[in-house]
Amino acid sequence: MRSFANRTEGFEDSIFAVMSQKAAQYQAINLSQGFPDFDGPEFIKKSACDFINKGANQYAPFAGVKELRSSLADLYKDFYDLSYNADSEITIVNGATEGIYATIQALINPGDEVVVFEPVYDSYVSSIKLAGAKAVPVTLKGPNFTFDKQELENAFSHQTKLVIINSPHNPTGKVFSTQELEMVARPATKHDCFVLSDEVYEHLVYDDVKHIPFASLEGMKDRTITISSAGKTFGLTGWKVGWCCASDDVIDRIRKVHQYITFSIATPLQFAVAQGLKEIKSYLVEFRSCYQSKRDLFMQGLEELGFELPTPKGTYFIMLPISQKTELDDIGFCEKLIVENKVATIPPSAFYLNSEEGKKYLRICYAKEDETLKKALSNLQGL
Ligand code: PMP
Ligand code: GLN
Repeated sequence: MRSFANRTEGFEDSIFAVMSQKAAQYQAINLSQGFPDFDGPEFIKKSACDFINKGANQYAPFAGVKELRSSLADLYKDFYDLSYNADSEITIVNGATEGIYATIQALINPGDEVVVFEPVYDSYVSSIKLAGAKAVPVTLKGPNFTFDKQELENAFSHQTKLVIINSPHNPTGKVFSTQELEMVARPATKHDCFVLSDEVYEHLVYDDVKHIPFASLEGMKDRTITISSAGKTFGLTGWKVGWCCASDDVIDRIRKVHQYITFSIATPLQFAVAQGLKEIKSYLVEFRSCYQSKRDLFMQGLEELGFELPTPKGTYFIMLPISQKTELDDIGFCEKLIVENKVATIPPSAFYLNSEEGKKYLRICYAKEDETLKKALSNLQGL
């Protein structure tokens, strides 16, 4: 009888795709899947068109175009004082998603364990499963999404090969402090693990808060694979230009996997992102204040609706505590909001492996035009 690979058992459509599809079905305002409803910057789009017209249209080297790797090396040095060799310690991938998958394939054996923080971004767990390994969750507890040091240390075992950290964190908007990151560094060092640091929201930090790359902690650079992407930074999620930075032996392995997944990434888009990175400092000033004002607009609206929650310091997500307003769980309340209020959100229980905590929240994406956010708030009146 014909059958499918066992490794895909239990896989379902991603919650992001499901909710965007439902938003369309019910003609609801889509605050579910994380992407802006406005376009990315003109200068980068124009640069991509120029490169297409100039003939940058054949395969890129599988490591990525040198211009982009060099721009990234400059950025890591300039922003974080981290030195990466553009030739051997940086590689370009098809968005952070491929970087995560390729890194896990390159490092993890069947039977290994990977420590993750829940709520956990969906692709980590699926990539871990596809490698035949096990995700071991540590729960971030609301309202501030802190974790228990003992629970973290207990999550490590002789089988632990990798810990995945994501700061700024999707879906909570939490930005981990140096002290919290150091709490992760200690057991990672003790158990001699790799650390995958997903930093796709590195530039989306607000107020007085700073992003701290995990690799910048003392002694951590060698064991850390830093992954990021142009998708969030330039509001171009459909371009899928991402990168991994790590020591040369790790990057060599990641490249060996990457060449058999996608081989290489869209050439003109890589050149355009390289151009964009050259102007990133001036670009980020407006970018950050634009997102911060969207966060403030939406938070104020939620407060006026009677919700109480701490202000998230990063990403473009809010974890909205719902028990103040309903007896329903996240899935039930999410359904009600789509059908009755025409607002689509994400039920975060999809991001938890052990804890029931997710049932008490909805994830909202505020990377939307102010008008979209105001309309959504107006639809939520009377909750
Ligand atoms: N990691 C996190 C935490 C994300 O939220 C996302 C999605 N935006 C990704 C990775 C994937 O990024 P990309 O679109 O570059 O593949
Ligand atoms: N990262 C986006 C989110 O968190 C979704 C990406 C996707 O749809 N795969 O909503």
